[in-house]
Amino acid sequence: MSSSPGSAPSVQDAPVLHVDLDAFFASVELLDDPSLVGRAVVVGGAGARGVVASATYEARRFGVHSGMATALARRACPDLVVLAGRFDRYEEFSRRFRSLVLDLTPVVEPLGLDEAFADLRGRRRLQPGPLDLAADLRARIRDELHLECAVGLARTKLFAKLASKRAKPHVSAGGVEPGVGVLWVSPTLEASWLQTLPVSALFGVGPATAAKLARLGLRAVRDLAGVDRHVLAAHVGPAMAAQLVAYAHGEDPREVVADRTAKSVGHDQTFAVSRQTHTELREDLRTHATVVATALRQRGVVARTVSVVVRFDDRTSVSRSETLDFGVDDVAALRAVGTALLDTIPLAQAVRLLGLYAGGLRARAGSTIQLSLDVGGAAEPARAAADLSREHQSERAALRDAIDEIRRRFGRTALATAADLRQGGVEVPRQRGRAAFGPDVEASDR
Ligand SMILES: [Mg+2]
Repeated sequence: MSSSPGSAPSVQDAPVLHVDLDAFFASVELLDDPSLVGRAVVVGGAGARGVVASATYEARRFGVHSGMATALARRACPDLVVLAGRFDRYEEFSRRFRSLVLDLTPVVEPLGLDEAFADLRGRRRLQPGPLDLAADLRARIRDELHLECAVGLARTKLFAKLASKRAKPHVSAGGVEPGVGVLWVSPTLEASWLQTLPVSALFGVGPATAAKLARLGLRAVRDLAGVDRHVLAAHVGPAMAAQLVAYAHGEDPREVVADRTAKSVGHDQTFAVSRQTHTELREDLRTHATVVATALRQRGVVARTVSVVVRFDDRTSVSRSETLDFGVDDVAALRAVGTALLDTIPLAQAVRLLGLYAGGLRARAGSTIQLSLDVGGAAEPARAAADLSREHQSERAALRDAIDEIRRRFGRTALATAADLRQGGVEVPRQRGRAAFGPDVEASDR
């Protein structure tokens, strides 16, 4: 193992990155309610049969851990704060987390909401090297999501995941001690490290399998390495037996498989200085559209659904979506639809986050629309029409129809800033059944 910069590995020595957010659900709850910081908090079921899903490190000091019955956890820690989960919120953070990992390489395999493998060989450039990439990723997760994480780097998924776990903070009698954050397992040290680990450290070995193995006298990985695969198969089945023996010898043939079935790709940004006007947000959306279009093309998919999310300073959110009759993967189309959606959201307060998401993904078949068009009198000059080839005329018409449909459905409330509204200088159409001011759709509606 090494985390020293003096022996910085190349992508060859550390092609697989595993990143795991620390105490994910609980950490999101602390972000939304800072008064909980420093307390023993779990997210989980509060009922008689409730189970802990996520625990802060303060709670872990009392022996509380995920998978534990909440009733037991309360006994172990009388001051425990038990919160019910808010999965829409965790999914929102998870999506943002994945988009940060996807900035490293298109070959990203998510594991649950808070972990992902990335294959760094999917990168075009060799620099920066794996340790710098890992450090940058941690910094971005901290700066943009305000979450902590650990990163493991290794030759295989097996060791990358073991390394991220070792890089985590740990609890001791003295309190919570920070982990190293980033850990690289050098290929020459893999075998000796592996031998010292308990079998439960191996991927796929849960408490039930660990108990079975313990009954066979197999507690450490070193015990597994000497066992006959057929004997083992009689107890845990042939597939698990083969996998365990391979792991015990440090082998892991599993590839990082890019998640092409992901339901959406997106980009969002929390602003250092909250935005006040649609004009500013339209500018931001330009970047968002570029990032999302790049991600779509890297995956070879087109999107039929485009969504925009705005989060205000009071942390309420509004989202708008439109499903198109055709797939798009280019900046101009994403920006056109995104801007039309954004324009329907009244800005009753300053905006701290803007997100653009593309869903309804399907494999790209042949050419798709590549066009640039004037969005309803907005900033973009109308120089684009001349560039359009004749075959794209119908797609352009379809896109304009979609934008008209957005305005029909949501009402064109926008192009007014909070200041304009206060001055009363702009007429804001009121649509039946829909508030003209302020958030009326929570992010969870998406
Ligand atoms: Mg985690």
